Amino acid sequence: MPLQTYDTQINSVCQPFTPVSHSFDPKTLKSVYSFESNRQTSDMRCPFYGKMNVYVHARHSTEIKDFPFLPKHRQSLVFYYHGYKCRECGHHFMEPIPAKVPNARITIRAAEWIKGLLSRNMPVSAVAEITGFHWETVKKIGSSRNFGERACSAIEYPLRAASVFSGS
Ligand SMILES: [Zn+2]
Repeated sequence: MPLQTYDTQINSVCQPFTPVSHSFDPKTLKSVYSFESNRQTSDMRCPFYGKMNVYVHARHSTEIKDFPFLPKHRQSLVFYYHGYKCRECGHHFMEPIPAKVPNARITIRAAEWIKGLLSRNMPVSAVAEITGFHWETVKKIGSSRNFGERACSAIEYPLRAASVFSGS
């Protein structure tokens, strides 16, 4: 059942990250939501040989631009995540971050929104102004067919996680 499969993927991929803080700068209108990994190392599998015998080798963080709640606001998600090393084969690999477009620091839902606005013939400069994304980034998303292709869990997660803070 596709729906069940989808739900299962949402849960299994998203639970490792927990929202830890939210800040808002009224001068720049920028919101930052931070998420920390609570993934169990014992659940991690080496992507090269598939063995579950890895350890935490490093801790990293990355800031990903997200679609803002309000026009002309800026919004970012910061993920604190693990770098692992495999005891079997010695390879390093990074903990996967949900919501992120591969090889770009932008959320999948932001890429989808920008594509949606551009598809209604909104000028690149207007989309850039409203969303806070750089003109070049908006242009690139608009001209790349596969940019921000949907992944199983990615869109659901930041929305739900961000709503935890919305009342504060
Ligand atoms: Zn390995």
